[in-house]
Amino acid sequence: MTSDSGIHRRVTLATWPTPLEPAPRLARAIGLGADDLWVKRDDLIGLGGGGNKIRKLEWLCGAALADGATVLVTTGAPQSNHARLTAAAGARLGLDVVLVLAGTPGASASGNLALDGLFGATVVWAGDVDGEGLAATAERVAERLRREGGVPALIPFGGSSVLGARGYLACGQELLTQAPDVETVVVAAGSGGTMAGLVDALGPARVLGVHCGAVADPALTVSALACGLSGADHPPHELRLRLDQVGAGYGTLTEPVMSALTLAARTEGLVLDPVYTGRAMAGLIAAVADGDIVAGRRTVFLHTGGLPGLFGHPAALARAEAELSAEDAQGTAPR
Ligand SMILES: *Cc1c(COP(=O)(O)O)cnc(C)c1O
Repeated sequence: MTSDSGIHRRVTLATWPTPLEPAPRLARAIGLGADDLWVKRDDLIGLGGGGNKIRKLEWLCGAALADGATVLVTTGAPQSNHARLTAAAGARLGLDVVLVLAGTPGASASGNLALDGLFGATVVWAGDVDGEGLAATAERVAERLRREGGVPALIPFGGSSVLGARGYLACGQELLTQAPDVETVVVAAGSGGTMAGLVDALGPARVLGVHCGAVADPALTVSALACGLSGADHPPHELRLRLDQVGAGYGTLTEPVMSALTLAARTEGLVLDPVYTGRAMAGLIAAVADGDIVAGRRTVFLHTGGLPGLFGHPAALARAEAELSAEDAQGTAPR
């Protein structure tokens, strides 16, 4: 139980609940029964292009408004879905948004970055910094905004604080009403708040996280957030975390991810992204192959969004385009 419930007021940024849909063709293709695999469509959350960060932002923006904030400040990678959705939430709520992004300007504004511009966000490029450097830059930006008379609210990296993770505690509860018999929920683990909230709602044995390479120690990160949510002073033991889908690192494209993207698209018309949901699906496929997920039980894949990220990932886009089979008007394949 959280001790501070009632202090924070959540704002509503979307229509709930999100749908839970069957994926029978994908299920059979990966070795499950047709009725075993369902997809929780948090990619269909209807603000700013959708995705999991909206559930967290309902709590984080609620707290910011209660504090009288005039401007949201957050951090991320150039193709951060979280930064894009913070920009959209700010637009919806009439708050300014400053995004402190790792890297330098110059890369073409595509994918999430293009949407950040449409939503009217200001970008501060933090240069080649690590997580701490990024947070320090955000602090300096907040100080400057205060001196200029603004009231900044710092939204944590990935929206993953204990408060933000409450959004996924609520999602877990929502899912239990839709699929009380769920045996395993498969989810991408980035900054950790999504998995932590689900662990709190469903228990650690029913949540399989797939590490995406966004943090150094995902078990520690998720445990700390889950403990904060439950008020427990010891970590939830036996987190189910797969560490085998990171490949050469966070932004890189792996073959299992590329196959997962292609398979989901061709069996269900379902679009995954190369950084998060593609890794989560590759992890699900690997879990069926090694017997961690079995036929005859209900598995739910949490689709956390990320579609704009596909359009900001040149390697994945090139591979997707190369999949196109072309023929001329006579039905002959061109050389
Ligand atoms: C941020 C993100 C995740 C990971 O969620 P965390 O709470 O940061 O672990 C998964 N999928 C997508 C598309 C995301 O943008």
